[in-house]
Amino acid sequence: MDFLPIFMNLRQRPCLLVGGGEVAVRKLALLRLAEASVTVVSPSLCEALEKQLAEDECIRWEETRFSPQHLDQQVLVIAATDNEAVNVQVSEAAKALNIPVNVVDNPDLCSFIMPSIIDRSPIIAAVSSGGAAPVLARMIRSKLETLIPAGLGRLATLAARFRNQVKAHFSEINQRRLFWEKVLQGEVAELVFAKREGAAADLLEKQLLESDATQSAGEVYLVGGGPGDPELLTFRALRLMQQADVVLHDRLVSEDVLNLTRRDAERIYVGKERDNHTVPQEDINQLLVRLAKSGRRVLRLKGGDPFIFGRGGEEIATLAEEGISFQVVPGITAASGCSSYAGIPLTHRDYSQSCLFVTGNLRDGSVDLNWSGMVQPQQTIVFYMGLQGLPIICEQLICHGMSPDMPAALVQQGTTAQQQVVIGTIASLPDEVKRHQVKAPTLVIVGEVVNLHESLAWFNTDSVAVHG
Ligand code: SAH
Repeated sequence: MDFLPIFMNLRQRPCLLVGGGEVAVRKLALLRLAEASVTVVSPSLCEALEKQLAEDECIRWEETRFSPQHLDQQVLVIAATDNEAVNVQVSEAAKALNIPVNVVDNPDLCSFIMPSIIDRSPIIAAVSSGGAAPVLARMIRSKLETLIPAGLGRLATLAARFRNQVKAHFSEINQRRLFWEKVLQGEVAELVFAKREGAAADLLEKQLLESDATQSAGEVYLVGGGPGDPELLTFRALRLMQQADVVLHDRLVSEDVLNLTRRDAERIYVGKERDNHTVPQEDINQLLVRLAKSGRRVLRLKGGDPFIFGRGGEEIATLAEEGISFQVVPGITAASGCSSYAGIPLTHRDYSQSCLFVTGNLRDGSVDLNWSGMVQPQQTIVFYMGLQGLPIICEQLICHGMSPDMPAALVQQGTTAQQQVVIGTIASLPDEVKRHQVKAPTLVIVGEVVNLHESLAWFNTDSVAVHG
């Protein structure tokens, strides 16, 4: 290990910053975040520094060039000048006095280096490449940013509030650790992340007072897994996916997405293929209740968005009736995913001012769809589950006055490596689709915006993209 990572308390301590330019501005901001008293030494200041100086009385300015006497009483020094000779001078003078010194972008002159920081105060994570590859350290930082929930600092603050109380309650360290593990990963944490600190504190207190405090109640996460590309998951979805003990998933959830769930979580496939509902909806609802009541954290993972043709409402209605806690995480719905990845904007100032999402599942009395509502100028229509009924859909649209030349697209397995787009008109699309033997899931987009695909397609364009 080339450097020892330490976290230094600089509150109200005198620190020296040499330099008055843009780089100094960033360093000054960090020092002030740590509440240091900062003296800036520089013959001149950039505008941003001047502004900071005017607004903050914990910053002093010495309008001169650096000289070693500026180091008097300082506990830490940062040199941020573009003058190599000055940087060397600062470094040598500080080292002679054993004052920790950092010279920006020059590890050889540093006695300490600055890490990339993830600030969830009071939780702070710092990443360093020891000066070897700062860009790499920043990349790791971004990865960590996505993994560490934004509310973690608030959770730590809540934990601090209860620290002594919990200590008094459990005499054994092990019991205490178990209790905190449950609290920091369970329902209390989720309430904090949902910005419900009051409810979180109440629950924590309740769990502490109950004798079976370590036996937490289960909960259900109804999570939208998006249309296929795992990179389209939300941060929250990913976090809950990696936390759940058991996963209920169906056919629409892509393998790549499923692979991001916790490795040791139990997986239950509940099917739902067309005309082959492996597990009836009512049984899924009951299964969720049973699993949660047994104290498990249950992930109900759905394709796309759970509230768009996903029956998500029914599943949580049962949970709500049973008083089981749950949360819903939106996902990118197929219409958004497919339209983006096919280069077909759903709205466009010139071609479409509204957009309808319609189920094309025509098994139960299709003709009830509001066809004339759909046939409106400057409107895009997206049909989910529309493959089987495509000939009827197109026929009805034409019957209700839509021009047979209206552009239409079918997107197969949108956002995945297997994405294919078939383009035609509402008159030609059903036959095109027959010719191309498309595979589910598919989405149909009808409207002038489909013409934009020709110029805006960007994804998968060099694979076997099929055009009608
Ligand atoms: N809740 C989901 C939709 C479920 S209904 C969502 O918000 O996306 C199932 C239908 O969604 C499929 O029949 C198909 O029309 C559409 N669909 C889902 N994923 C798709 C994908 N990757 N490509 C094309 N269509 C998709």
